[in-house]
Amino acid sequence: MPPRVRATIAQLPVYRPGKPAPLGPGGVSYKLSSNENPFPPLYGVMEAAASACAQMNRYPDMGNVALTNAVAAKFAVPPDRLAFGTGSVAVLYHLLQAFCESGDEVVYAWRSFEAYPIAVQLTGAAAVPVPLGPGAVHDLGAMHAAITPATKAVLICTPNNPTGPAVRHAELVDFLEAVPDHILVVVDEAYVEFVNDPNAARGAELLAGRPNVVVLRTFSKAYGLAGFRVGFCVADPAVAAAVRAAALPFGVSLPAQAAALASLAAEDALLERVRTLIAERDRLGAELVRLGFDVPAAQGNFVWLPAGEATPTYAEAFASAGVMVRPYVAGDASDGVRITVGEAAGSAVVLEVASTLPR
Ligand SMILES: *Cc1c(COP(=O)(O)O)cnc(C)c1O
Repeated sequence: MPPRVRATIAQLPVYRPGKPAPLGPGGVSYKLSSNENPFPPLYGVMEAAASACAQMNRYPDMGNVALTNAVAAKFAVPPDRLAFGTGSVAVLYHLLQAFCESGDEVVYAWRSFEAYPIAVQLTGAAAVPVPLGPGAVHDLGAMHAAITPATKAVLICTPNNPTGPAVRHAELVDFLEAVPDHILVVVDEAYVEFVNDPNAARGAELLAGRPNVVVLRTFSKAYGLAGFRVGFCVADPAVAAAVRAAALPFGVSLPAQAAALASLAAEDALLERVRTLIAERDRLGAELVRLGFDVPAAQGNFVWLPAGEATPTYAEAFASAGVMVRPYVAGDASDGVRITVGEAAGSAVVLEVASTLPR
């Protein structure tokens, strides 16, 4: 008899990464399937990572001390409120492993980030998905109603991947007032740098006086370091300590720590690029609406095209023009495709294809 895998593992949904871009007519090829940043590394980041490589025979700093201090200064929080991991997905895994087990429940909106059901079920806890409300926004009322005595955590994705809208700050404050404080509320802000709605949630402002709130941030999206795997949480010191306790030792590599630190130092250039992407997103979203698509408010670096049953048709049409988008196929009306916002030239192809699609 072969060794038997835990039933929990055998039943996990599979994470499907965005596919590479196909080659379209005239060599056109855009990978708009993983919400990656289209820009090359910021000034000084390659150099910092490369010089860290000279010490590859050494373990990295397990405490991520230099990076922790830089992020602590940026957020104006003490360093003991931070915990790092190989991407904020890893931080979420460690957090849930530290707090959840069989018999617990974790509430999150659905459709949302594909990693949530996996991260939750890995701990043995039960996933409690709550359908998004009209406009593909989190239905915080329904999420509150889904809380039971078994609830250990609530995950809030703002802006929501893959549909785009951010949770409103005032609504999130009301929600936090209503949620018992033994329940962790995780505010996943992977795309917060792209937000330009003044009413959108500002996770960092929710931390004071609320030891159950955890804010997740990543260097993968706006900072353009997806390949290096660095993310962190800002939380109560006891919660952050629990995340560090559950984390893999030496998870964040030496070049990744150096690159993240150098990216923080290049923040002005970074924000300039983010502004460019925001403008491109707003333009692309408005054009798609003009073409007759019901695009939800896009606050990340991506737009959502609701497509229902036509989702595979949409994805094929984009692929044959050299654009890889990310189809979400559950087989119901909530299906659609997510398109990452990149270069203007890619948006032009997206709009050309979109104008030919049934809607
Ligand atoms: C991309 C993303 C993350 C971060 O991923 P890492 O690369 O692991 O930092 C977290 N949450 C959401 C919703 C994302 O889309």
